[in-house]
Amino acid sequence: MSNFDDRDKTYLEVEDDWQDENMERDDDSKAEGSTIEESALENSDSDNEKKDEYEDVCFICRRPESKAGKMFHLPNNICVCNECMHKTMDTVSQFDYQGMLNNTDPFAGGKGKGFPSISFVNLADLQGDGGIPNKQKIKKKKEKSKNKPVLNIKDIPAPHKIKAKLDDYVVGQEHAKKVISVAVYNHYKRVATDTMDEIEIEKSNMLMIGPTGCGKTYLVKTLAKLLDVPLAIADATSLTEAGYIGDDIESVVSKLLAAADNDVERAERGIIFIDEIDKLAKKKNTTSRDVSGESVQQGMLKLLEGAEIEVPVGANSKNAMVPLTTINTRNILFICGGAFPDLEEIIKQRLNKQSAIGFNADLKDKYDKDKTILNKVTVEDIRKFGMIPEFIGRLPIIYTLDGLTKEMMVKILKEPKNAILKQYQKLLELDEVKLEFDDGALEAIAEKAMEKETGARALRAIIEEFMLDIMYEIPKDDNIGRVTITREYIEGTGGPIIDIRSNTACLEDYSSLPSTSES
Ligand code: ADP
Repeated sequence: MSNFDDRDKTYLEVEDDWQDENMERDDDSKAEGSTIEESALENSDSDNEKKDEYEDVCFICRRPESKAGKMFHLPNNICVCNECMHKTMDTVSQFDYQGMLNNTDPFAGGKGKGFPSISFVNLADLQGDGGIPNKQKIKKKKEKSKNKPVLNIKDIPAPHKIKAKLDDYVVGQEHAKKVISVAVYNHYKRVATDTMDEIEIEKSNMLMIGPTGCGKTYLVKTLAKLLDVPLAIADATSLTEAGYIGDDIESVVSKLLAAADNDVERAERGIIFIDEIDKLAKKKNTTSRDVSGESVQQGMLKLLEGAEIEVPVGANSKNAMVPLTTINTRNILFICGGAFPDLEEIIKQRLNKQSAIGFNADLKDKYDKDKTILNKVTVEDIRKFGMIPEFIGRLPIIYTLDGLTKEMMVKILKEPKNAILKQYQKLLELDEVKLEFDDGALEAIAEKAMEKETGARALRAIIEEFMLDIMYEIPKDDNIGRVTITREYIEGTGGPIIDIRSNTACLEDYSSLPSTSES
């Protein structure tokens, strides 16, 4: 026994000595060659970084990580994808292990049962990067750096701050911007504090009324972007009662889930914008079943109020074989928008009826020329239009957007942060050409857009039409330093003013450019 103890001691002592020696040697080498080691470390770091830029490739099926999914990392930098690993395991499990254990290489004079026809991979051959050079690998896609949101809903920006940010993008519509800022502020305050005690704060769903192209969708989109909340935009015309051809009503929630990258918590704080809501109006004088109008309004009631909705993940239909998840719509902000044509007529009738009796009776055509008549809308008018009272009741905030005037159109062209003109100016700047529009040109574009009666949407089409020639001709000539678009050019009676890039800049009419009317 004592013998054993002695032996143990000596073994430990020897090991201690050996460790001490090693440490000393380490210290020495550190003192001498620290710089060399550091540089080696840096090198290996940069090597690793380089490797990180490339995707791992499965050694067996040669698919990259982005296709085959997570890889198993084996020694010698060999990667095998999940699928191949399983297949290999399955194959191996069919082997005769007994035989394998007794296997001795018959070519080396062995006499075991073995598998003479199977040659095992020699791992030594695969030294270095899994045997695959970088040129055969696919570079990883760089992850987009996430922009910080302009406004943070966690701190709930005050309404005036929300409106100030909206002002950078949306021209005019002062009332609408004010209403939406306050409503959003209250909504997210309610969500953040989760105030559900005796005084229950009501949900601030909104109904937005305004002619086409006046910025309804744009306003909501800008808001969602500024607040960095997911946004789903749905078209009411495509919705039908569940079971009929068309999207069923709950599909708008799965759209939102997709917009939130399948993050249920984020989706539950999102915004759903339902456009063309006026198309859901009750059909008059109809005897057939109205599966896309009134019944969709009915179906939306519980969604607007707040309900637990089962939605498919990654598909629009519950019939798809995909997992389902539950989303509570209580904190989702619903904004409905529509042009409500003929609503003006309904308002006019009501106002005329009111003012036709008594001492204050007005002329019958008093409201005919009133451009702001839509602002006088009441819940009663919308009900008359064909929306059911329960539906209107769940959209407590109703406001209107103004039709665009010529002045607003001109502003839309040049003022917003991402104005169309700024976009073209930036494009030509890359060719070192300055693009300018004189005031007459802007007005002419606005006038043309007003004729089309599709709101600001027409602006882009008009500009694109004449900018085509400019964008085609200008890069031909390196001497051009500045182009000024004039009213004549827009109207097709002249050309743009071209400024040559030189000290003695001379103005000349670039009449070789075809005018828009010719093209
Ligand atoms: P709609 O009211 O029919 O939903 P949109 O919001 O889609 O119209 O407007 C179409 C385009 O017109 C937008 O993408 C936007 O570029 C432009 N636009 C419309 N109104 C405004 C506005 N008030 N300020 C800035 N741009 C606007």
